[in-house]
Amino acid sequence: MLNNNISQPVSNPGYVTTPTLSTFNKELVTEIKSWRQIDICPACQMRSVTKFATIRHMPYSRCRACGFRFANPVPSDKVLSAFYNSPFYCNYRQLEEKQIAQGNHFSISIGTDTMHHLATWLGNDKSLKILDYGCGPGTFVSLLRDKFNFLNVEGLELNRQSVVIAKRNYDLTIALSPEELQHQLYDCVTLLEVIEHLPEPDIFFKQIASLVKPGGCILIATPAVDNLLGLFFPWYADAPYTAPCHISLFTKKALICLLSRFGFNIERIEIQQSWGVMEKLFASLVYELDFLSPRHDDDFNDLLYTPNALGRLLGLQPQRSLPSNLFFRTLRRIDGLLARIAKRLPSVPMNGHMYVLARRHS
Ligand SMILES: [Zn+2]
Repeated sequence: MLNNNISQPVSNPGYVTTPTLSTFNKELVTEIKSWRQIDICPACQMRSVTKFATIRHMPYSRCRACGFRFANPVPSDKVLSAFYNSPFYCNYRQLEEKQIAQGNHFSISIGTDTMHHLATWLGNDKSLKILDYGCGPGTFVSLLRDKFNFLNVEGLELNRQSVVIAKRNYDLTIALSPEELQHQLYDCVTLLEVIEHLPEPDIFFKQIASLVKPGGCILIATPAVDNLLGLFFPWYADAPYTAPCHISLFTKKALICLLSRFGFNIERIEIQQSWGVMEKLFASLVYELDFLSPRHDDDFNDLLYTPNALGRLLGLQPQRSLPSNLFFRTLRRIDGLLARIAKRLPSVPMNGHMYVLARRHS
């Protein structure tokens, strides 16, 4: 089924060869007529939803009021289940377990340094009841318990394979559903790289709000799409538009809107800037951007540059990162120069990733 011929041999029997995301989606959208169409923004509730772009066969909408972007029509439960149980997705679990088994606090979704940084946002009260919702293989739970000495940390994860990995490697018992949680209310609920996966973020936040004590907080990490690539060239933005995986994509305004609807005030926000436009735009002349799940223990990068007609004519091969030849090195330098100029112009949107601590009204 693969339409690429990456030169690396598939050497690990644990990894299953899968189609690229684009090929995978082509099959999923055959039932798109039965998916639910949304015309009220799930973030700000304004009736201001308009078509945005179709990316790797998945149509996305945009809210004109808050900038929220989401897969619309919303992929059905059947499609989401097909994706999250597919080898494409399960290969990531394989990669995570290999890393964790080597003694690393590893997650494919978020860097270990970032997890350390965010753990310091939780303060010094080690008795806090903390729930890591959508905890994957339990890496952040383990980090909070073992490195930061929090005494009451729990995880909840819907993916059974991740729950098994958490038990086997971190000796963690992870809840598979909200009914299995140990407490009814928490001082803090953490959502690290979770909300971009939600088909109905408003319904989800209602549920999350009911798990947080008055005066308690939620800690969120999620990609931001208010940057030049995300706004104007989304089919070439690296990470965000990967439906059916990432289907709810926030701007800073959209996230603040959604949080305030459920009684949360922003207490702290850090935004990682996103640079690098020229290189991606020029690459688009000869490559299509696609995604490929891991086929090897070292495949941390899921980007896949597949030559288009012109690229094939030039004899280019599919590859996971852009070439480091003189042309692309020069474009990278130009990007660096433009980034330095853009930093002096606050009106240029360059939000690449958001980290938010929001507190529930007492
Ligand atoms: Zn909106």
